[in-house]
Amino acid sequence: MSEPLPVSLTRTVDLAGLGGFARALVTALREQPGVEVLAALRAGVHATCPQCQFRLFGEDVLALAASEAPAPETSPKLHRLAGGYCARQGCESRFYEFTFDPVPGVDWAGLLADLEAAAGEVTAASEVTPEAAAAAARRRSRRRVALGLAVVGVLLVVRHILSGGAIPWIREPRRFTADPATMPQLGRTNTEAPPALTATNRPRTFRAAPPGPGR
Ligand SMILES: [Zn+2]
Repeated sequence: MSEPLPVSLTRTVDLAGLGGFARALVTALREQPGVEVLAALRAGVHATCPQCQFRLFGEDVLALAASEAPAPETSPKLHRLAGGYCARQGCESRFYEFTFDPVPGVDWAGLLADLEAAAGEVTAASEVTPEAAAAAARRRSRRRVALGLAVVGVLLVVRHILSGGAIPWIREPRRFTADPATMPQLGRTNTEAPPALTATNRPRTFRAAPPGPGR
């Protein structure tokens, strides 16, 4: 019989992403064979602010796609839109309702699906990356804490051994019998003659003081 009547499509567009949306839309239209971009935008695209009913037309979309951020004196409307605000001064709306009317040769449904898939990929990538980065940072910080604890543990064991202590369950406390002839004599090192003044830079040998009775 007859083909189903083409229907208009609507999309809600966040004003914060309006410039990117306009650029993606214009780029996608340029890739449609036999389609004149400005004509297709004029015939098929308009948007309305749900709060103040401001109307945005196809040529505005093309202008938004063409310029990053127009100066306020060049176009206050485009300047506000590029900044993520409704074109009407004082309107607090953060999104526009876009309508895509049928245009011969333009598959709005397929085109918008591609735009949304691309936008979804961008969103997904930006959602995954900070999480992965945070997880990696948590893993790194856990590794650093574990390494720090291991170092502290080793240092404590070394200090324990150096101070003559035994490590429970690892090393049996050992008893030494010292030969009195080889025992250092208390005070002996302090009774040696001080080094000659001319020899102050000579390498010196230090000996550990004998352990006190309390250790
Ligand atoms: Zn508005």
